[in-house]
Parts: sequence; structure tokens; C-alpha cells
Amino acid sequence: MPFKSLGLCDPLVQGILATGYTAPTEIQSEAIPAVLAGRDIIGCAQTGTGKTAAFVLPILHRLSHEHKAAQKGVRSLILTPTRELAVQIEQCVEEYGRFMKLRALAVYGGVSMENQIRTLRRGVDIVVATPGRLMDHLQRRTIDLRAVEVLVLDEADRMFDMGFINDVKKIIGQLPANRQTLLFSATMSKEVKGLAAGVQKDPKMIQIGQQHNPIETITQHIYPVRKDQKMDLLRHLLQHENMYCVLVFSRTRHGADKINKHLDRAGIKSVSIHSGRTQSQRQKALDGFKQNKFQVMVATDIAARGIDVDGISHVVNFDVPAFAEDYVHRIGRTGRAKALGDAITFVSDDEKQYLHRIEKFISKKLKFEPCPVFASRKADQPGSNEKPRQQHEKKHHEKPRDAKAPGDKRHDDKGYGGTPRQGKPREGRPERGQSHEGRSHYGKPQENKSQSGRPQTGSSFSSGGKSKSFRNRRKKHTRRF
Ligand code: AMP
Repeated sequence: MPFKSLGLCDPLVQGILATGYTAPTEIQSEAIPAVLAGRDIIGCAQTGTGKTAAFVLPILHRLSHEHKAAQKGVRSLILTPTRELAVQIEQCVEEYGRFMKLRALAVYGGVSMENQIRTLRRGVDIVVATPGRLMDHLQRRTIDLRAVEVLVLDEADRMFDMGFINDVKKIIGQLPANRQTLLFSATMSKEVKGLAAGVQKDPKMIQIGQQHNPIETITQHIYPVRKDQKMDLLRHLLQHENMYCVLVFSRTRHGADKINKHLDRAGIKSVSIHSGRTQSQRQKALDGFKQNKFQVMVATDIAARGIDVDGISHVVNFDVPAFAEDYVHRIGRTGRAKALGDAITFVSDDEKQYLHRIEKFISKKLKFEPCPVFASRKADQPGSNEKPRQQHEKKHHEKPRDAKAPGDKRHDDKGYGGTPRQGKPREGRPERGQSHEGRSHYGKPQENKSQSGRPQTGSSFSSGGKSKSFRNRRKKHTRRF
């Protein structure tokens, strides 16, 4: 079905085609007509399904359709939990609406307020904001939300996790009651359902895919490894496997910095992103990673949600996440828009309990694979995988990391790299929405995927799978990533 048949206006359809999308994704086909008809919606979709366009496109259509030349106030407000997501969504608004006259602004902390105030004074139609900075503007009366027609609550469950919910409620209190409200959440917890009931009118529920299941294009690898050997294993994989665009997750900020330094010392181009870094450092890291300046970005869970980097070949969980849903979000950074991806999780003995929680959450047994043989500095200790180099079971890639593997469609000429966000996808890379046929990042054919760890669909969404104490722990925990 073409975008035009969803009822979107011509300049918008042109913008979508120029972005490289040819047909709507499932959530877009379901959500766009409902939003255009004025309905409130609750969108429950797996990460990477195209949910940003599912709300941005009908908003752009609606605002341009009813454009009032002298309109000053903000007409649509999109609330999102992290600064990086705010920037990313604002970029989508710019991209899709490039042939329209609407003005958008990302409003987030860690950067000067003055520039934001100046732009707001000139008039902005769409504001994409994090709750904290938006509250600052409201307190200073530098933003007027009385003309808001459409509110989007993106990643609503994450806003609860991050302790933003009181700010969110205060912000909603300042909006007109007769607005349209679109709520998106990866999980429908009791809290999210309660929020929806309080702020929406007769919402249409749209659920795409099985909530707890990682998307099917991601192959999951679980390696048993001693804690003190994880660094060596990571370095080994990065140097010997065909891993060209890798997101490594660490549970803590300190851990992320340590991994980053270690990789740097080993000559692997790496950068880190977490809440201990300044906003400009965070943005630089993300931009550099997107522009392929770094082979690796090491992140805390701040990057687990929504961050969209084209062509992430591998996600590595250096630590097993303590919260099962974080696993799904982390590994969902690869395999986006139906591309193939590999997720590798390092599991030490003390982390097996977390792995069991994940298995329960995704209703799937995750099989340990034999850990690749690697040289460990702790070779003398029990459990070491140290063997003489010539005994390595996996063949080393003889080529430099930036060489193109034969038949690997995911490589561009410059080696580990993504696709430009705009215009025609590069040759040799799948177009948006197309899957990479038949190859994994390791360069092996994928026919046997179902036996080798590819997630099987089939678990239905339920709030089960988490113990009460786990749920309580989650509630108490307002996390800093
Ligand atoms: P999202 O779930 O919004 O983060 O989107 C995930 C990825 O899908 C992003 O890289 C989008 O650019 C891409 N995408 C969104 N809609 C489409 C579409 N209709 N066709 C192809 N790719 C899309």
C-alpha cells in the first residue's frame, strides 16, 4: 500500500519518498488513518517498527492542513524521555516535512536555554521535549502550550522508569483539554494504563508484534565467560570477527568508561555515551558513531531506547541487564527496519539469574554457545580460554576490518559503515524496509537460524514473568544511566 493511499498530503508523501521509504510499516498503516481521523491512540510496538513516523506523519499532515499563517503558539508537543531521542525525533520531523513550512524545535537540557527561548519567540509549530527542560521553560514562562492540538507521549514506560512522570502530569495539566493524545509505550504496565486512562479519550489500541519478543531479524548469541575475561573476549571479537558497527552496553557509567578506555588502548576506535558526560560530548559521540568515525560506541541504557543508528551490525551486552525488558530494548538497536543483526551477551556465573529472568520475559530458552577461543591475560586462572593462537577454532579474518566480505551486502566500500539518513541508500546496502537476504554479520548463510538462536515468535503479551519483588524493585528504582 503506498503512503498516498493513507490520505497524507502530497508534500508529505514527497518528503517520505525522499527519505527513502517506499511503503508504510505495519504500525504506520494502522496508526496513520486513525490519527488522521482524530482518534487518540495507544501504540504498543516493538522497537524499530517505524513508530516515530506513525505519529510524526499524521501530525505534519494535520498541522499543514489547518495551517494558520499568524499562528504563534506551539501546536504539537512530543514528550520523550532522553535528549538523544528528542534530537532524533526532531530530525525526523525535519526530514519528513522538508517540503512543508512547519517549524520544529527540540527542547532538552544540558544545552543553553537562551537559544531555545529565541527560537520559541520566533514561533514554533512542533516542540519535541524532554520533561525536565520543558518544566524549566514553563516555570520561566518562555513557552506557551495553550494552543497545543496534538500531544504525543513517546516511550511512556521509560518516562516512569526515569522518574519523569510527575513532571509529565504537570505539563499535561497546562494543555487544552480538547486535544488529541497519542501514547506510545513498549510495555503496558499498570502505571502506563493508569496514565492513559487519565489523559486520553476512547483510545484505539494498536499492538504490533509480540511485545516481549526481540524482533525476528536479530540472532542472539549467549557466551559463558568469566567476569575478569570479558574485556579480553570483547577485544578478541572486535579484532577477529567481522564486527564493523558495534554498540556495547554496560550496566554502569564507570563500566562504560573503562571499556571505552580499554578499547582505545587496543587501537579500536571507540567512544562512550552516558549521563555522566556533558550533552555536547553525548551528541558528539552519537554523531561520530552515526558517521562511522568509531567502530564501537559503549553505552549505558541511556542508548537502549529508540536510538536509531543505521546499520548497527552487533549489539554486545558486556553485562547482562538486571531488568529483563532492557535486554529487549538493547538488542533492538540492531536489526532495525528488518535489517539483520546479531546480539551477543556475555554471561558470567553470577549473572545467570538475570539470564533466567530474560528467558522468562521473552518466553524463550537462550542457549549458551561455546565461547570463541581467545587469548586471555588471566590465562593462569581456572576457567581460562587460553590456547595457543594456532588452535583457534574460528578462522581469523585475514582482511583488515574495513575490507568487504565476499557477498556481504551490508558492507559499503568504506568498511564498517551506515547509510546516509537522507536520499538514496548506498549501493550494496538494503533499502529501508528491505531485509538483508540470507547472510549474517559473521558472513555465514542464515538458513539454520531457527536452530541457532533466532528468536521464535509465539509468546503473548502479559504482565507475567516478573516476580513481585522484581516489580517492586523496578518501581523504587529511578535510574541514572
Ligand atoms: P523507529 O521505530 O521509528 O525508531 O524506526 C526504526 C527505523 O525504521 C528507522 O531507521 C526508520 O528510519 C525506519 N523506517 C520507519 N518507517 C519506515 C518505512 N516506512 N520504510 C522503511 N523504513 C522505515
